[in-house]
Amino acid sequence: MNRRDFLASAGLVPALASAQQGVSSDPPVMRMTAGPAPTIALNHLGFTPKARKLLIVRLTGRTAPPQFTIRDISFPLKPFSLTLPLKPAPRGDFGDHLIGDFTELERAGQYRIFLPDEHSVPFFVRDDAWRRTLPKPVSYFHAQRCGVEVPNVHPACHLDDARRRDNGQHLDVTGGWHDAGDVRKGMSQTMANGFGLMHLARNLGEKWDLVGSGLKVLLDEMRWGNTYFLKMQDTDGLVWGGTEGEAGGNNTGNNWTDNQIGTADDRFIIWRKSGNVQANWVTLQAMVAQAFQAADASYAQRCLEAGLRCRRAAGVPSGPGENAGELAWWTLADLELWRATQQVSWADSAAAMAGRLLALQATDYVGSQKSIRGFWPMGRTAGAPDAPGAGPGGRYPGAASFQNDAHSAVPGHAMMELIEAFPKHPDAQKWREAMRMHLEEFVVPLCGRSVYRIMPSGLFFGSPTKEHYRPLEGELTYRYFMPARADGQWQGLTAHLESWAFMLAKAARAFERPEYRDLAWRQMEWVMGANPFGACLMTGEGARNPYPLSYFVGVIVGGLMNGVAGNADDEPILNFDGGIDWHTNEYWSPHVGYYLAAVSELETGGRG
Ligand SMILES: [Zn+2]
Repeated sequence: MNRRDFLASAGLVPALASAQQGVSSDPPVMRMTAGPAPTIALNHLGFTPKARKLLIVRLTGRTAPPQFTIRDISFPLKPFSLTLPLKPAPRGDFGDHLIGDFTELERAGQYRIFLPDEHSVPFFVRDDAWRRTLPKPVSYFHAQRCGVEVPNVHPACHLDDARRRDNGQHLDVTGGWHDAGDVRKGMSQTMANGFGLMHLARNLGEKWDLVGSGLKVLLDEMRWGNTYFLKMQDTDGLVWGGTEGEAGGNNTGNNWTDNQIGTADDRFIIWRKSGNVQANWVTLQAMVAQAFQAADASYAQRCLEAGLRCRRAAGVPSGPGENAGELAWWTLADLELWRATQQVSWADSAAAMAGRLLALQATDYVGSQKSIRGFWPMGRTAGAPDAPGAGPGGRYPGAASFQNDAHSAVPGHAMMELIEAFPKHPDAQKWREAMRMHLEEFVVPLCGRSVYRIMPSGLFFGSPTKEHYRPLEGELTYRYFMPARADGQWQGLTAHLESWAFMLAKAARAFERPEYRDLAWRQMEWVMGANPFGACLMTGEGARNPYPLSYFVGVIVGGLMNGVAGNADDEPILNFDGGIDWHTNEYWSPHVGYYLAAVSELETGGRG
């Protein structure tokens, strides 16, 4: 796919605003500095009463205020205020900052923080500060339904989906969800919606929505999406990659159609059956089977059987499939099949997959340094970038650690699920040790590089593209944001941060380490406003929302944007010019799916 070309052809890419920095092939957003620049970085939703509460203030050459004041702003006004010190944060990336700790504020209320020359957006301290947002992202999926009229969003669409790529014959694959700001229906992308719904249902059950709408809302939405996912299984048991495509043979196409089967604008089925899609699909069907067991046992059985058929057809991944991402997904797939069937053979298979995943972990130091290890590599060896997407022409050339724009924490996530499911397994101690190294010798030190505590995109060897890579140790470098001068397909990393939050929340519970939980919250706080733009990236929450790139239906409440990305200097960028830039502003399924997964996971771990 090449969205940039598509947007250029649609006249959506503006003329270069300025050529003062960067190289001429960099898109304008990499050179733009316009947009809000508050010095206060604080999430816009607020905090649960027992949570760690930190205020970050950027020092932009002005005199450092020595203190900050928090005032209760809810009506009727109360004379409550709290003044606390602001201290210099230890020197880190993104410049100099002050930090204020107001963890002691447990009193419920709506507040604002005041500095001498600036104040924060209003935020809450209350038990449901984050939980109350959950219905909005769920409603986002409803608005993204394809193959049906969604009142106030769009008329019935794509009733002519789609054509077989091999023989042109029509095959009914209507339904599902539009993936993003566009109307395509990629499988690995839109299945992220399903994972979000299933984790939400699993973590919070009937009480996911505080008004008591119950599980039915989640199950109905899941069934809507899954009807399409089930149609995408070929007779050989394997699953196609999605629905989009043009007659010309590529899959970049993106348009409303005339809803008439057999006319020239019918879309195509993506014919490729990648290993990742199979592993995602089996995992999802096994989770759906568990979630529907009580409400509709025969549907649950149908999904389980379809999942087993795909699992058998896919076999055991080998060759290029043997990378950390795909092995992690197969570990999850077999674990969920065990949960759905209670057959020991699936538990054994999950443990065997985890063994292969562990064999890939970089337990030795690579890159002439002795402080960072325990990460997973992009490819089959820790010392070389030999995986798809890591080599020349890929998104992450020269990558040392596993990186992904959506599922970047999935190797650790799979290990945490196993530790949770089989605490007494003979290998459990080995799994725990692997995760201890992953967390303590990779995740925690990397997050410690900036006052925001966000997880960088990942590690690299040296400077594989012509832009800035931050020195770490030895030959290892890192970037917070995807390389912007690699293949042009860089984007903001909202889902990446949420994926780490989801994994860290699990680790906090399993290892009884509240500091992992604090770190999980910090990833989520960046997405919801504690970033250098003071921008909340969910439509319908917080302030300073950029306009989304959503050129078919406009804003959708609960939608999350790609979000903050980086320029060639790895400094944060975010487009505020009307949503014309997909890199930072486009809605995308994985952001919304992981939001539900991470927040619901954090909500299960007790307050704070
Ligand atoms: Zn549609």
